[in-house]
Amino acid sequence: MTMTYDPENIFARILRGDIPNKTVAETAHTLAFHDIAPHAPHHVLVIPKGPYVDFADFAAHASVEEITDFHRTAAQICEGLGEGYRTISNSGGHGGQEVPHYHLHILGGRPLGPMLTR
Ligand code: AMP
Repeated sequence: MTMTYDPENIFARILRGDIPNKTVAETAHTLAFHDIAPHAPHHVLVIPKGPYVDFADFAAHASVEEITDFHRTAAQICEGLGEGYRTISNSGGHGGQEVPHYHLHILGGRPLGPMLTR
């Protein structure tokens, strides 16, 4: 079940300009910026500008324009990672989500190893 959106979460504050970010790409509906604590040489976060908590909330409630824009913006960043990359979206407690604003991690720049430790 999706939580209620918290407008004080850190990515909402980045979108309002209260907190700086290292922007990689920005469109009408989407912002991409460098993760502050990167797990790989290339670690970018892609977020919708709308107030969606997680993947399921975004998929269920965003407009077709927002969903298309989000994925095309993310894909353009991925295309620059010629040796390959990984996209991850964490959700909820079991997913290990820390920031309750939907985001896609794009990781690359080195071999990333197995998907999960068992
Ligand atoms: P998640 O655990 O999937 O919710 O990921 C949240 C990510 O946000 C983590 O990788 C953090 O390093 C990253 N993060 C937290 N605060 C900031 C910030 N101010 N700027 C950039 N990335 C951040």
